[in-house]
Amino acid sequence: MSVEPERLEPEGVLHKPDWENFRDHIPTADQQGRRLWVYPRKPSGAFYTARTWVSWFLLLLFFAGPFIRLNGNPLLMINIPARKFVIFGQLFWPQDLFILAIGMVTLFVMIVLFTAVYGRIWCGWLCPQTIFMEMVFRKIEYLIEGDAPKQKALNKAPWTGSKIAKKLTKHAVFLALSFVVGNWLLMYIIGSDAWIKLVTDPPTQHLQGLAAMILFALLFYGIFARFREQACTFICPYGRFQSVLLDENSIVVSYDHKRGEERMKLRKSQSPEARREAGGGDCVDCKLCVQVCPTGIDIRNGTQLECVNCTACIDACNTVMDKVGFPRGLIRYASENNILRGEKPRFTPRLIGYTVILTLLTSLLVFLLASRDNIEANLLRAPGALFQVMPNGEVSNLYLMKVMNKTNRDVPMALRLESPEGSLTVPGDQLVVPAERIKESPVIVQLSPDRMTGASTKVVIGVYEGDQRIDTIKTSFVGPGEESR
Ligand code: SF4
Ligand code: SF4
Repeated sequence: MSVEPERLEPEGVLHKPDWENFRDHIPTADQQGRRLWVYPRKPSGAFYTARTWVSWFLLLLFFAGPFIRLNGNPLLMINIPARKFVIFGQLFWPQDLFILAIGMVTLFVMIVLFTAVYGRIWCGWLCPQTIFMEMVFRKIEYLIEGDAPKQKALNKAPWTGSKIAKKLTKHAVFLALSFVVGNWLLMYIIGSDAWIKLVTDPPTQHLQGLAAMILFALLFYGIFARFREQACTFICPYGRFQSVLLDENSIVVSYDHKRGEERMKLRKSQSPEARREAGGGDCVDCKLCVQVCPTGIDIRNGTQLECVNCTACIDACNTVMDKVGFPRGLIRYASENNILRGEKPRFTPRLIGYTVILTLLTSLLVFLLASRDNIEANLLRAPGALFQVMPNGEVSNLYLMKVMNKTNRDVPMALRLESPEGSLTVPGDQLVVPAERIKESPVIVQLSPDRMTGASTKVVIGVYEGDQRIDTIKTSFVGPGEESR
């Protein structure tokens, strides 16, 4: 969406950065590569208010999440060390990895489709980095150090008692908050019960957990106190994919350059008509949109990698438009086609393709989830064992059964030989498979020779919990064969 002409270099000629051209450098580094600190002005306006409400809701969800139980499981838990994954209360095992993989691919396609239509709405409204940075840490900074000009002045000021107090307070609060955020994230990994145990037991019993807590806290402190917008520009892979995901129909935060250019300072004595005749557009070049930008860019240069679509510039420009009496929306959510040709959003063949793939993947995922067993039983012939002829002439086979209980409760089970007629014995007490565990047990099946069909007989075993059949196992039963009987 840039209004800049493209500059081509002859082959083999090293491109010399043009520091006047925004495409040749990032706004947060100087010519020596030193960081240029961004001091965004405090935003205000309808979008900022709406984003604040959305953020409060999401923060509430984040902090309540580890304690919300669905089917007795947490809402979300990604316990990689224990290879235990819970998504929306559904427990997944490493054996369900293919479902998770399909889920990941579905999510990826969904993000691609969503981005192609709505741009980086995720970054501005839903991303945890933006929410914590702009809605928590930045607000605390404004509260302690004041708005951007005051922050700049404070940083330039000599180290007085008041400056030291402000800086100490800010960083102490940042560190404490980072510790809280880190601990909550830890709960999404190990679960709230394990976390409570971690903080109530003596620290020496959980040195690894303690190290994880401190590491997370320092990591978040580093990100929110220092690294900030650099995480979106340099680290986030989603941000870097934008150039291939967006097209001229994607709705992004855009500056209407047709309406705004030529930008021109507002002169009180000049009528709107005289301004137009002089070639002036609606942009009064107040630069408020640049001053509120948390990534330090000028949206008037067009869509840029750094723009997280936070809408702060929309609010700022609308305030200016109201003041100067021009219509709102000089900066707004719009596609390139909308700005250049006045086109409404449309469903392009690319979007149709994404939608078809997404529908297919979602259907497959729903099918896999719906047909997933909570109890999975496998029966294998005991290693080295073939068959045994009993004194009464019946033949017995020894199997090894493995039952995986994917639920969070102990499941008492019984096995019944469904066909052919015969007997089935599980040595020991009643078979109880503990919650979220795998249990192994020997199983003996005994058939009379007249129930057997040659050297190999198909047998069907029902796995029951009470009277309810929860799984069926089909296996083969080996015997001596017709000729040897
Ligand atoms: S806030 Fe609006 S009027 Fe002011 S510089 Fe930005 S685009 Fe122009
Ligand atoms: S350009 Fe506007 S929408 Fe993009 S990051 Fe800056 S303020 Fe936010």
